[in-house]
Amino acid sequence: MPTAGQGELDETTVRARLRAAHERIERACRACGREPSSVRLLLATKTVPASVIALAVRAGSTLLGENKVQEGLSKHEEVERLAGVRPSWHFIGHLQTNKVPEVLRFAQVIQSVDRSELARKLHARLEREGRSIDVLIQVNTSGEASKHGCAPGQAPALVREIAAMGTMRVMGLMTIGLLGATPGEARPGLRRLREIRDRVRDEAIPGVSMDVLSMGMSGDLEVAIEEGSTLVRLGTAVFGPRA
Ligand SMILES: *Cc1c(COP(=O)(O)O)cnc(C)c1O
Repeated sequence: MPTAGQGELDETTVRARLRAAHERIERACRACGREPSSVRLLLATKTVPASVIALAVRAGSTLLGENKVQEGLSKHEEVERLAGVRPSWHFIGHLQTNKVPEVLRFAQVIQSVDRSELARKLHARLEREGRSIDVLIQVNTSGEASKHGCAPGQAPALVREIAAMGTMRVMGLMTIGLLGATPGEARPGLRRLREIRDRVRDEAIPGVSMDVLSMGMSGDLEVAIEEGSTLVRLGTAVFGPRA
């Protein structure tokens, strides 16, 4: 596979990288007896120029994730214009409460809801705008202090609290696996996310589906799929190393 970085990617390379990513997902599914169609691919587009993102969208990748509100705001219209189709933007980064109005201008899904205070701000704004949104609850499964996400033990209560608000549909959970870890080291955290999901799903809370498990990145997608991921988020594997 060519090692071209983000700025120098052409259409051929982007298509080849996407094909390789889909093959990797399919292989991982087959290895553990899952249907390849049960795992969706989201492209993590932080720092990637709109022109390159548009190549991926034109090649059929319409699920995108941004980490920074400002970056999503400044790139989404250009991507849509260049690609000629409207992708689905997920917000996957740490969300400050004062950025809630801006994030709602481009994101269709917020994967990083991790605290009551943020949920209340989202709810207030959504009510004012008379709309609702799909969210995932981000859980810190690795225990690293540097990671955002609620503690695993707090996740069920946060899901219940958000469901009671009525403006957010909780579709599932998201986590970032232990970074720089071997697959064996990453596995317990990923497994934990699935266990929390199963437990909350058993509660059958109205407005909560819990079908989505967003986990697995370029370094740990195979183990994430083995542990039940339904949505892998790839950056480096498709766009190359970030500058
Ligand atoms: C950057 C990022 C990814 C993708 O990471 P890669 O290792 O480049 O595949 C996935 N999820 C989140 C939340 C990210 O910030």
